[in-house]
Amino acid sequence: MKRREIFAGNWKMYKTYQDAVDLVKGLSAGVKKTDGREYAIFIPAPYLRDISSLCADTLFVTGAQNMYFENQGAFTGEISPLMVRDCGAAFILIGHSERRHIFHETDEDVNKKVRAALTHRLQPMICVGELLNERENNETLQVLERQVKGALLNIEKSDMAKISIAYEPVWAIGTGKVATPEIAEEAHISIRNIIKGLYGSDISESIPVLYGGSVKPDNIAGLYKMNNIDGVLVGGASLETKDFLPIVNVKN
Ligand code: PEP
Repeated sequence: MKRREIFAGNWKMYKTYQDAVDLVKGLSAGVKKTDGREYAIFIPAPYLRDISSLCADTLFVTGAQNMYFENQGAFTGEISPLMVRDCGAAFILIGHSERRHIFHETDEDVNKKVRAALTHRLQPMICVGELLNERENNETLQVLERQVKGALLNIEKSDMAKISIAYEPVWAIGTGKVATPEIAEEAHISIRNIIKGLYGSDISESIPVLYGGSVKPDNIAGLYKMNNIDGVLVGGASLETKDFLPIVNVKN
């Protein structure tokens, strides 16, 4: 089965406005055909509207890196799904490990955000992944099960086509220690099995599962050739055209 393939960049809290504009111009000049791939960039919220407009004539779509789950209210400092949608985003990143571990987001928060995103026609990209000590204690499967089931609680089968999962082992994020293709593939198969238990094999076989964690131009080819890796979510190497273009343009 041919699945959606998504190549995504997460800019985190980097870039001035002008740097962001220059980066998008460089990326759009370097990607001229889709090859059946989708390209998304997760933008700092203050630039979301302008960068979404700039992306309108390119192959890239935008997403926000986080949002609150309420439509509006007295939630100082937060942004709502309505605002994200209004700024032209197609995707929303939910449950990134930096949100879970620095800002203490729970599986319940993640689930509320997934539901809010779907209500507002945003495509949730849900991040899951184990800590180093959880892997060393053989708890990876349990962690993935808890995070995937928690994120998808009460999500209807009919909404699953809008959802993608990013497997991002926390020990690989920003550390330069990429998971081997075999380790990533094994985790992706586990994620598909969990989804199969919840929604059946059609959905588990069709949902895009991306890998994230120290993806670089020199390791993308090995990861991308694995059967169950349907694209990548890239942090550090998405910040410069010289790094991100060879990743999104990796040969089939
Ligand atoms: C990320 O931010 O999701 C990420 C995977 O970061 P990096 O590529 O820098 O490890």
